[in-house]
Amino acid sequence: MENVNYTSTSTDIGHKYYKYSKKITPIGLIIFISMGILGTVILSLIYSYVVYYTEYLYVHILLTVVLGTGIGALVCIGGKVGKIRSTFIIGFAAVLFGLFAEYCQLVFWIFIESKGQFLILNPVKIFYIMNYIGSTYSYNMIIFSLYLIDGVLIVATSVIISIRFIKDKAFCERCDRWMKNETLAGLNFVDDIEELKIKLEQGDFSALTLLGKAGKFDFQLTRVVLKHCTQCKEFYLISVSTIKITRSLRGKLKAEEKMVVKDLIIDQHVYNYLMEWNRSLKHSFF
Ligand SMILES: [Zn+2]
Repeated sequence: MENVNYTSTSTDIGHKYYKYSKKITPIGLIIFISMGILGTVILSLIYSYVVYYTEYLYVHILLTVVLGTGIGALVCIGGKVGKIRSTFIIGFAAVLFGLFAEYCQLVFWIFIESKGQFLILNPVKIFYIMNYIGSTYSYNMIIFSLYLIDGVLIVATSVIISIRFIKDKAFCERCDRWMKNETLAGLNFVDDIEELKIKLEQGDFSALTLLGKAGKFDFQLTRVVLKHCTQCKEFYLISVSTIKITRSLRGKLKAEEKMVVKDLIIDQHVYNYLMEWNRSLKHSFF
């Protein structure tokens, strides 16, 4: 079975984890790349015009993060439509499209600055023009260095967004489709992650149900995500993690997530049991 990776390191009982098959099809790859290129050009064009009329530095930085998020979302959508089951390809594409977005926005910037006279696509020429503009106006020098920081920001944001997305997804090879994710009600926090992991790998899912429901405003809880294939209804996964939200000295909220099990393969019986139990929790007040 393509989806299965056998491991039995922690316990004597065999348990299986899901791993991406790393499979891609030529047509899927073409869809993925086409969507990426077209979307990046459109997003960069919009970004370039908005940034051109933006005076404030922090708004510029914010817009750059928005562009990086847009490129990341584009990789996610393209990856989903093109059925790209490889974390490496998704991450690599996020870097490439991020760099391509930076290139596009420089092309459009020169185009806008020259009042539509120059549409220069040669990267070497772009560099010389940027250098010239930067040395001509002292104010533009700041803008010039900003464009360098922009590139790093766009690539970093797009990689973070797309990797987070792909890590949260699973694919049923048998039905050639993505699986559905369902997040259950938050449970009370677990300190001993290793102990819970061993129990879950042994198939003892009462270790979860015994935790009890976390309060609505709890700053630490245990998160359970179930995935299943809605077509064959034969492929089920569970991921469990602990989340701790802390407040830094500056007052910023920070969420720390620790994985207990990631995409452990379960059967339909366990899935139904946990879903039924989750429904009962949602209707309870405690
Ligand atoms: Zn299926």
